[in-house]
Amino acid sequence: MKNFIFQNPTKLVFGKGQIAKLAELIPAGGTLMVTYGGGSVKKNGVYEQVTHALQGRDYIEFWGIEPNPHVETLRKAIDVGKEKKVDYLLAVGGGSVLDGTKLVAAGIASDTDAWEIVLQGKTEKQIPFASVMTVPATGSEMNGGAVITRSETKEKYAFRGNYPQFSILDPEVTYTLSSHQIACGLADAYTHVLEQYMTTPGQSRLMDRWAEGVLLSIMEIAPKIKQNPKDYDLMADYMLAATMALNDFIRMGVTEDWSTHQIGHELTALHGTTHGHSLAIVMPATLRVLKDQKHAKLLQYGERIFGITEGSEEERVDKAIEKTEAFYRSLGLTTRLSEENIGMETINLIADRFNDRGVAYGENHNVTGDVAKEILLSCL
Ligand code: NAP
Ligand code: FE
Repeated sequence: MKNFIFQNPTKLVFGKGQIAKLAELIPAGGTLMVTYGGGSVKKNGVYEQVTHALQGRDYIEFWGIEPNPHVETLRKAIDVGKEKKVDYLLAVGGGSVLDGTKLVAAGIASDTDAWEIVLQGKTEKQIPFASVMTVPATGSEMNGGAVITRSETKEKYAFRGNYPQFSILDPEVTYTLSSHQIACGLADAYTHVLEQYMTTPGQSRLMDRWAEGVLLSIMEIAPKIKQNPKDYDLMADYMLAATMALNDFIRMGVTEDWSTHQIGHELTALHGTTHGHSLAIVMPATLRVLKDQKHAKLLQYGERIFGITEGSEEERVDKAIEKTEAFYRSLGLTTRLSEENIGMETINLIADRFNDRGVAYGENHNVTGDVAKEILLSCL
Protein backbone atom coordinates (compact mmCIF):
# COMPACT_ATOMS: atom_id res chain seq x y z
CA MET A 1 0.00 0.00 0.00
CA LYS A 2 1.27 3.49 -0.85
CA ASN A 3 1.56 6.18 1.80
CA PHE A 4 -1.42 8.49 1.88
CA ILE A 5 -3.14 11.27 3.79
CA PHE A 6 -6.90 11.06 4.04
CA GLN A 7 -9.02 14.02 5.05
CA ASN A 8 -12.52 14.51 3.77
CA PRO A 9 -14.10 17.43 5.60
CA THR A 10 -17.50 17.48 3.87
CA LYS A 11 -20.48 17.07 6.17
CA LEU A 12 -23.00 14.84 4.43
CA VAL A 13 -26.61 15.60 5.31
CA PHE A 14 -28.64 12.78 3.84
CA GLY A 15 -32.31 11.98 3.55
CA LYS A 16 -35.89 13.19 3.14
CA GLY A 17 -36.65 16.80 3.99
CA GLN A 18 -33.04 17.69 4.81
CA ILE A 19 -33.01 20.81 2.63
CA ALA A 20 -34.91 22.43 5.52
CA LYS A 21 -31.65 22.30 7.50
CA LEU A 22 -29.98 24.86 5.20
CA ALA A 23 -30.45 27.80 7.53
CA GLU A 24 -28.63 26.13 10.39
CA LEU A 25 -25.87 24.75 8.14
CA ILE A 26 -24.88 28.03 6.48
CA PRO A 27 -23.02 30.33 8.86
CA ALA A 28 -25.02 33.43 9.84
CA GLY A 29 -23.94 36.86 8.59
CA GLY A 30 -21.88 37.52 5.48
CA THR A 31 -23.15 37.60 1.94
CA LEU A 32 -24.50 34.41 0.44
CA MET A 33 -24.89 33.69 -3.27
CA VAL A 34 -27.00 30.71 -4.34
CA THR A 35 -26.09 29.30 -7.75
CA TYR A 36 -28.43 27.38 -10.05
CA GLY A 37 -28.51 25.72 -13.45
CA GLY A 38 -31.16 26.15 -16.10
CA GLY A 39 -34.30 25.75 -14.02
CA SER A 40 -34.88 22.04 -13.29
CA VAL A 41 -35.13 23.02 -9.62
CA LYS A 42 -38.28 25.01 -10.34
CA LYS A 43 -40.02 21.89 -11.68
CA ASN A 44 -39.27 19.53 -8.83
CA GLY A 45 -39.85 21.65 -5.73
CA VAL A 46 -36.17 22.02 -4.87
CA TYR A 47 -36.22 25.78 -5.47
CA GLU A 48 -39.23 26.16 -3.18
CA GLN A 49 -37.58 24.10 -0.47
CA VAL A 50 -34.38 26.16 -0.68
CA THR A 51 -36.20 29.50 -0.65
CA HIS A 52 -38.34 28.37 2.24
CA ALA A 53 -35.31 27.21 4.22
CA LEU A 54 -33.53 30.53 3.60
CA GLN A 55 -36.54 32.70 4.46
CA GLY A 56 -35.57 35.79 6.41
CA ARG A 57 -32.03 35.74 5.16
CA ASP A 58 -30.48 38.09 2.61
CA TYR A 59 -28.88 36.39 -0.35
CA ILE A 60 -28.45 36.76 -4.07
CA GLU A 61 -29.10 34.21 -6.81
CA PHE A 62 -27.04 33.41 -9.89
CA TRP A 63 -28.79 31.41 -12.62
CA GLY A 64 -27.66 29.71 -15.78
CA ILE A 65 -24.69 27.47 -14.99
CA GLU A 66 -25.05 25.04 -17.88
CA PRO A 67 -24.21 21.31 -18.12
CA ASN A 68 -20.43 20.96 -18.54
CA PRO A 69 -20.14 24.44 -17.02
CA HIS A 70 -18.58 27.08 -19.22
CA VAL A 71 -15.84 29.33 -17.94
CA GLU A 72 -17.46 32.14 -19.90
CA THR A 73 -20.61 31.88 -17.71
CA LEU A 74 -18.62 31.41 -14.53
CA ARG A 75 -16.63 34.60 -15.12
CA LYS A 76 -19.95 36.46 -14.95
CA ALA A 77 -20.75 34.82 -11.61
CA ILE A 78 -17.29 35.75 -10.35
CA ASP A 79 -17.87 39.39 -11.35
CA VAL A 80 -21.20 39.46 -9.51
CA GLY A 81 -19.65 37.76 -6.50
CA LYS A 82 -16.81 40.28 -6.31
CA GLU A 83 -19.09 43.24 -6.80
CA LYS A 84 -21.50 42.10 -4.06
CA LYS A 85 -18.68 40.95 -1.76
CA VAL A 86 -20.06 37.42 -1.63
CA ASP A 87 -18.30 35.30 0.99
CA TYR A 88 -20.28 32.02 0.88
CA LEU A 89 -21.66 30.04 -2.05
CA LEU A 90 -24.43 27.46 -2.14
CA ALA A 91 -24.70 25.38 -5.33
CA VAL A 92 -28.16 23.94 -5.96
CA GLY A 93 -28.20 21.47 -8.85
CA GLY A 94 -26.17 18.70 -10.42
CA GLY A 95 -22.44 18.20 -10.71
CA SER A 96 -22.21 20.96 -13.30
CA VAL A 97 -23.66 23.65 -11.02
CA LEU A 98 -21.43 22.50 -8.17
CA ASP A 99 -18.27 22.20 -10.29
CA GLY A 100 -18.93 25.63 -11.73
CA THR A 101 -19.48 27.01 -8.23
CA LYS A 102 -16.13 25.57 -7.13
CA LEU A 103 -14.49 27.70 -9.81
CA VAL A 104 -16.55 30.73 -8.82
CA ALA A 105 -15.36 30.17 -5.23
CA ALA A 106 -11.77 30.26 -6.49
CA GLY A 107 -12.33 33.20 -8.83
CA ILE A 108 -13.85 35.37 -6.10
CA ALA A 109 -10.90 34.63 -3.82
CA SER A 110 -8.28 35.56 -6.39
CA ASP A 111 -7.30 38.05 -9.08
CA THR A 112 -6.24 35.31 -11.48
CA ASP A 113 -8.46 34.73 -14.52
CA ALA A 114 -10.80 31.78 -14.06
CA TRP A 115 -9.40 29.80 -16.99
CA GLU A 116 -5.87 30.28 -15.66
CA ILE A 117 -7.01 28.76 -12.37
CA VAL A 118 -8.35 25.73 -14.26
CA LEU A 119 -5.11 25.39 -16.24
CA GLN A 120 -3.07 25.56 -13.04
CA GLY A 121 -4.95 22.39 -12.06
CA LYS A 122 -4.99 23.18 -8.38
CA THR A 123 -6.02 25.93 -6.02
CA GLU A 124 -6.20 26.32 -2.28
CA LYS A 125 -7.70 29.80 -2.36
CA GLN A 126 -11.49 29.55 -2.42
CA ILE A 127 -14.28 31.15 -0.46
CA PRO A 128 -16.35 28.49 1.36
CA PHE A 129 -19.07 26.69 -0.55
CA ALA A 130 -21.66 23.98 -0.02
CA SER A 131 -24.27 22.16 -2.07
CA VAL A 132 -27.75 20.79 -2.44
CA MET A 133 -27.01 17.99 -4.91
CA THR A 134 -29.75 17.00 -7.35
CA VAL A 135 -27.97 14.48 -9.63
CA PRO A 136 -26.29 11.33 -8.26
CA ALA A 137 -23.28 10.90 -10.55
CA THR A 138 -20.14 12.93 -10.07
CA GLY A 139 -19.31 12.67 -6.37
CA SER A 140 -18.58 16.40 -6.60
CA GLU A 141 -20.72 16.83 -3.47
CA MET A 142 -17.97 15.23 -1.41
CA ASN A 143 -14.75 15.77 -3.32
CA GLY A 144 -12.34 18.52 -4.24
CA GLY A 145 -12.54 18.15 -8.02
CA ALA A 146 -14.29 20.22 -10.67
CA VAL A 147 -14.39 19.95 -14.45
CA ILE A 148 -14.75 23.12 -16.50
CA THR A 149 -15.29 23.71 -20.22
CA ARG A 150 -14.04 26.62 -22.30
CA SER A 151 -16.65 26.69 -25.01
CA GLU A 152 -14.80 29.01 -27.40
CA THR A 153 -11.97 26.47 -27.79
CA LYS A 154 -13.94 23.30 -26.97
CA GLU A 155 -11.54 22.37 -24.18
CA LYS A 156 -12.51 20.62 -20.92
CA TYR A 157 -10.17 20.21 -17.96
CA ALA A 158 -10.35 19.32 -14.30
CA PHE A 159 -8.85 21.20 -11.39
CA ARG A 160 -8.68 20.41 -7.69
CA GLY A 161 -9.42 22.60 -4.71
CA ASN A 162 -11.29 22.55 -1.44
CA TYR A 163 -14.25 20.32 -0.56
CA PRO A 164 -17.84 21.46 -0.03
CA GLN A 165 -18.39 22.39 3.62
CA PHE A 166 -21.58 20.38 3.54
CA SER A 167 -23.76 18.68 0.95
CA ILE A 168 -27.44 17.92 1.31
CA LEU A 169 -28.54 14.76 -0.49
CA ASP A 170 -32.28 14.13 -0.52
CA PRO A 171 -33.02 11.10 -2.73
CA GLU A 172 -36.55 12.42 -3.35
CA VAL A 173 -35.17 15.21 -5.54
CA THR A 174 -33.93 12.60 -8.04
CA TYR A 175 -37.45 11.50 -8.98
CA THR A 176 -37.60 14.02 -11.81
CA LEU A 177 -34.37 12.91 -13.52
CA SER A 178 -34.80 11.65 -17.09
CA SER A 179 -33.98 8.00 -17.77
CA HIS A 180 -30.99 9.17 -19.85
CA GLN A 181 -29.67 11.28 -16.98
CA ILE A 182 -30.03 8.30 -14.62
CA ALA A 183 -28.22 6.00 -17.06
CA CYS A 184 -25.41 8.55 -17.42
CA GLY A 185 -25.20 9.02 -13.66
CA LEU A 186 -24.93 5.28 -13.03
CA ALA A 187 -22.31 4.97 -15.78
CA ASP A 188 -20.30 7.86 -14.33
CA ALA A 189 -20.32 6.39 -10.82
CA TYR A 190 -19.46 2.87 -12.07
CA THR A 191 -16.59 4.26 -14.13
CA HIS A 192 -15.24 6.32 -11.22
CA VAL A 193 -14.90 3.11 -9.23
CA LEU A 194 -13.30 1.24 -12.14
CA GLU A 195 -10.72 3.98 -12.63
CA GLN A 196 -9.59 3.63 -9.03
CA TYR A 197 -9.84 -0.18 -9.04
CA MET A 198 -8.59 -1.40 -12.42
CA THR A 199 -4.90 -1.05 -11.59
CA THR A 200 -2.10 -3.23 -10.23
CA PRO A 201 -3.68 -5.88 -8.00
CA GLY A 202 -2.61 -6.67 -4.46
CA GLN A 203 -2.13 -3.06 -3.32
CA SER A 204 -4.94 -3.21 -0.78
CA ARG A 205 -7.38 -6.03 -0.16
CA LEU A 206 -9.60 -3.58 1.70
CA MET A 207 -9.75 -1.03 -1.13
CA ASP A 208 -10.47 -3.85 -3.63
CA ARG A 209 -13.38 -5.19 -1.59
CA TRP A 210 -14.70 -1.70 -0.95
CA ALA A 211 -14.61 -0.83 -4.65
CA GLU A 212 -16.17 -4.18 -5.57
CA GLY A 213 -18.95 -3.49 -3.06
CA VAL A 214 -19.81 -0.23 -4.79
CA LEU A 215 -19.63 -1.85 -8.26
CA LEU A 216 -21.89 -4.73 -7.19
CA SER A 217 -24.36 -2.34 -5.56
CA ILE A 218 -24.60 -0.23 -8.71
CA MET A 219 -25.09 -3.36 -10.84
CA GLU A 220 -27.78 -4.64 -8.49
CA ILE A 221 -29.82 -1.44 -8.32
CA ALA A 222 -29.48 -0.33 -11.97
CA PRO A 223 -32.14 -2.65 -13.48
CA LYS A 224 -34.44 -2.08 -10.51
CA ILE A 225 -34.21 1.70 -10.89
CA LYS A 226 -35.22 1.31 -14.53
CA GLN A 227 -38.42 -0.39 -13.34
CA ASN A 228 -39.02 2.00 -10.48
CA PRO A 229 -37.20 5.33 -10.59
CA LYS A 230 -39.31 6.70 -7.74
CA ASP A 231 -38.45 4.04 -5.18
CA TYR A 232 -36.93 5.93 -2.27
CA ASP A 233 -34.61 3.21 -1.02
CA LEU A 234 -33.29 2.41 -4.48
CA MET A 235 -32.61 6.07 -5.22
CA ALA A 236 -31.02 6.47 -1.77
CA ASP A 237 -28.59 3.65 -2.52
CA TYR A 238 -27.90 5.11 -5.96
CA MET A 239 -27.22 8.54 -4.48
CA LEU A 240 -24.91 7.23 -1.77
CA ALA A 241 -23.13 4.87 -4.19
CA ALA A 242 -22.35 7.81 -6.48
CA THR A 243 -20.95 9.77 -3.53
CA MET A 244 -18.89 6.84 -2.25
CA ALA A 245 -17.55 6.19 -5.75
CA LEU A 246 -15.59 9.43 -5.76
CA ASN A 247 -15.06 10.84 -2.28
CA ASP A 248 -11.54 9.48 -1.66
CA PHE A 249 -12.69 6.50 0.43
CA ILE A 250 -11.86 3.84 -2.18
CA ARG A 251 -8.52 5.29 -3.29
CA MET A 252 -6.54 5.17 -0.06
CA GLY A 253 -3.03 3.92 -0.75
CA VAL A 254 -3.71 2.61 -4.26
CA THR A 255 -2.77 3.74 -7.77
CA GLU A 256 -5.41 5.10 -10.16
CA ASP A 257 -5.95 5.27 -13.90
CA TRP A 258 -8.08 8.14 -15.21
CA SER A 259 -7.38 7.73 -18.91
CA THR A 260 -11.02 6.95 -19.73
CA HIS A 261 -12.15 10.22 -18.14
CA GLN A 262 -9.46 12.17 -19.97
CA ILE A 263 -10.56 10.80 -23.34
CA GLY A 264 -14.24 11.13 -22.42
CA HIS A 265 -13.75 14.82 -21.62
CA GLU A 266 -12.52 15.36 -25.17
CA LEU A 267 -15.63 13.70 -26.63
CA THR A 268 -17.84 15.92 -24.49
CA ALA A 269 -15.86 19.04 -25.32
CA LEU A 270 -15.96 18.35 -29.05
CA HIS A 271 -19.41 16.77 -29.45
CA GLY A 272 -21.41 17.58 -26.32
CA THR A 273 -21.72 13.86 -25.47
CA THR A 274 -23.16 13.62 -21.94
CA HIS A 275 -20.32 12.90 -19.52
CA GLY A 276 -21.45 9.46 -18.29
CA HIS A 277 -22.27 8.40 -21.83
CA SER A 278 -18.79 9.31 -23.06
CA LEU A 279 -17.35 7.00 -20.39
CA ALA A 280 -19.63 4.11 -21.40
CA ILE A 281 -18.15 4.41 -24.88
CA VAL A 282 -14.50 4.76 -23.86
CA MET A 283 -14.13 2.45 -20.83
CA PRO A 284 -14.66 -0.92 -22.56
CA ALA A 285 -12.21 0.16 -25.28
CA THR A 286 -9.62 1.28 -22.70
CA LEU A 287 -9.87 -2.17 -21.12
CA ARG A 288 -9.48 -3.86 -24.51
CA VAL A 289 -6.38 -1.86 -25.42
CA LEU A 290 -4.75 -2.08 -21.96
CA LYS A 291 -5.83 -5.64 -21.24
CA ASP A 292 -2.31 -7.08 -20.98
CA GLN A 293 -1.33 -4.43 -18.48
CA LYS A 294 -4.57 -4.98 -16.54
CA HIS A 295 -4.68 -8.77 -17.03
CA ALA A 296 -4.47 -9.86 -13.39
CA LYS A 297 -6.98 -7.27 -12.16
CA LEU A 298 -9.38 -8.08 -14.99
CA LEU A 299 -9.32 -11.72 -13.90
CA GLN A 300 -10.14 -10.73 -10.32
CA TYR A 301 -12.85 -8.31 -11.49
CA GLY A 302 -14.38 -10.91 -13.82
CA GLU A 303 -14.60 -13.47 -11.05
CA ARG A 304 -15.78 -11.22 -8.23
CA ILE A 305 -18.18 -8.99 -10.16
CA PHE A 306 -19.49 -11.27 -12.91
CA GLY A 307 -18.75 -14.74 -11.48
CA ILE A 308 -16.53 -15.66 -14.44
CA THR A 309 -14.52 -18.74 -13.43
CA GLU A 310 -14.41 -20.90 -16.55
CA GLY A 311 -12.20 -20.82 -19.61
CA SER A 312 -8.57 -19.86 -20.16
CA GLU A 313 -7.25 -16.67 -18.57
CA GLU A 314 -7.43 -14.94 -21.96
CA GLU A 315 -11.05 -15.99 -22.40
CA ARG A 316 -11.98 -14.85 -18.89
CA VAL A 317 -10.38 -11.44 -19.42
CA ASP A 318 -12.23 -10.99 -22.71
CA LYS A 319 -15.49 -12.07 -21.07
CA ALA A 320 -15.05 -9.54 -18.22
CA ILE A 321 -14.60 -6.75 -20.77
CA GLU A 322 -17.60 -7.93 -22.81
CA LYS A 323 -19.73 -8.02 -19.65
CA THR A 324 -18.61 -4.49 -18.77
CA GLU A 325 -19.72 -3.21 -22.16
CA ALA A 326 -22.98 -5.16 -21.83
CA PHE A 327 -23.60 -3.52 -18.45
CA TYR A 328 -23.27 -0.02 -19.93
CA ARG A 329 -25.60 -1.05 -22.75
CA SER A 330 -28.09 -2.47 -20.26
CA LEU A 331 -28.35 1.03 -18.81
CA GLY A 332 -29.63 2.18 -22.19
CA LEU A 333 -26.42 3.78 -23.45
CA THR A 334 -24.64 3.18 -26.73
CA THR A 335 -21.00 2.11 -26.44
CA ARG A 336 -19.63 2.82 -29.91
CA LEU A 337 -18.56 6.09 -31.51
CA SER A 338 -20.17 5.14 -34.82
CA GLU A 339 -23.53 4.90 -33.05
CA GLU A 340 -23.08 8.57 -32.18
CA ASN A 341 -21.85 9.53 -35.66
CA ILE A 342 -18.39 10.28 -34.35
CA GLY A 343 -15.61 9.23 -36.70
CA MET A 344 -11.99 9.50 -37.76
CA GLU A 345 -11.87 13.28 -37.79
CA THR A 346 -12.54 13.41 -34.04
CA ILE A 347 -10.24 10.45 -33.33
CA ASN A 348 -7.34 12.14 -35.10
CA LEU A 349 -8.07 15.47 -33.44
CA ILE A 350 -8.02 13.94 -29.95
CA ALA A 351 -4.80 12.06 -30.70
CA ASP A 352 -3.21 15.29 -31.98
CA ARG A 353 -4.39 17.22 -28.92
CA PHE A 354 -2.85 14.66 -26.55
CA ASN A 355 0.38 14.55 -28.55
CA ASP A 356 0.59 18.36 -28.70
CA ARG A 357 0.04 18.57 -24.95
CA GLY A 358 2.69 15.90 -24.43
CA VAL A 359 0.44 14.06 -21.98
CA ALA A 360 0.65 10.40 -20.99
CA TYR A 361 -2.27 9.34 -18.80
CA GLY A 362 -3.02 6.16 -16.91
CA GLU A 363 -1.50 4.16 -14.10
CA ASN A 364 1.71 3.58 -16.06
CA HIS A 365 1.75 6.97 -17.81
CA ASN A 366 1.59 5.29 -21.19
CA VAL A 367 -1.74 6.53 -22.57
CA THR A 368 -0.27 9.01 -25.03
CA GLY A 369 -2.00 10.44 -28.06
CA ASP A 370 -1.13 7.31 -30.02
CA VAL A 371 -2.57 4.97 -27.39
CA ALA A 372 -5.66 7.19 -27.05
CA LYS A 373 -6.08 6.79 -30.79
CA GLU A 374 -5.94 2.99 -30.44
CA ILE A 375 -8.57 3.19 -27.70
CA LEU A 376 -10.82 5.39 -29.82
CA LEU A 377 -10.39 3.11 -32.82
CA SER A 378 -11.38 0.20 -30.61
CA CYS A 379 -14.71 1.84 -29.76
CA LEU A 380 -15.41 3.05 -33.27
P1 NAP B 1 -25.42 18.03 -14.75
O1 NAP B 1 -24.65 18.41 -15.97
O2 NAP B 1 -25.17 18.78 -13.51
O3 NAP B 1 -26.98 18.07 -15.02
C1 NAP B 1 -27.50 17.54 -16.19
C2 NAP B 1 -28.93 18.01 -16.44
O4 NAP B 1 -29.79 17.49 -15.44
C3 NAP B 1 -29.08 19.51 -16.42
O5 NAP B 1 -29.75 19.86 -17.59
C4 NAP B 1 -29.94 19.79 -15.19
O6 NAP B 1 -30.85 20.84 -15.40
C5 NAP B 1 -30.70 18.52 -15.03
N1 NAP B 1 -31.07 18.22 -13.65
C6 NAP B 1 -30.35 18.39 -12.52
N2 NAP B 1 -31.01 17.89 -11.46
C7 NAP B 1 -32.19 17.42 -11.92
C8 NAP B 1 -33.29 16.78 -11.30
N3 NAP B 1 -33.28 16.48 -10.00
N4 NAP B 1 -34.34 16.44 -12.09
C9 NAP B 1 -34.34 16.70 -13.41
N5 NAP B 1 -33.31 17.27 -14.06
C10 NAP B 1 -32.24 17.62 -13.32
O7 NAP B 1 -25.16 16.45 -14.49
P2 NAP B 1 -24.02 15.75 -13.66
O8 NAP B 1 -23.86 14.42 -14.28
O9 NAP B 1 -24.28 15.82 -12.22
O10 NAP B 1 -22.70 16.62 -13.92
C11 NAP B 1 -21.91 16.45 -15.08
C12 NAP B 1 -20.66 17.32 -14.98
O11 NAP B 1 -19.87 16.94 -13.86
C13 NAP B 1 -19.77 17.19 -16.20
O12 NAP B 1 -19.22 18.43 -16.54
C14 NAP B 1 -18.70 16.23 -15.72
O13 NAP B 1 -17.50 16.36 -16.45
C15 NAP B 1 -18.54 16.66 -14.30
N6 NAP B 1 -17.92 15.66 -13.39
C16 NAP B 1 -17.37 16.11 -12.24
C17 NAP B 1 -16.77 15.25 -11.36
C18 NAP B 1 -16.18 15.78 -10.09
O14 NAP B 1 -15.54 15.03 -9.35
N7 NAP B 1 -16.36 17.03 -9.76
C19 NAP B 1 -16.73 13.89 -11.63
C20 NAP B 1 -17.31 13.43 -12.82
C21 NAP B 1 -17.91 14.33 -13.67
P3 NAP B 1 -30.70 22.32 -14.79
O15 NAP B 1 -29.45 22.91 -15.33
O16 NAP B 1 -31.92 22.98 -15.25
O17 NAP B 1 -30.66 22.20 -13.27
FE1 FE C 1 -17.02 11.43 -14.03
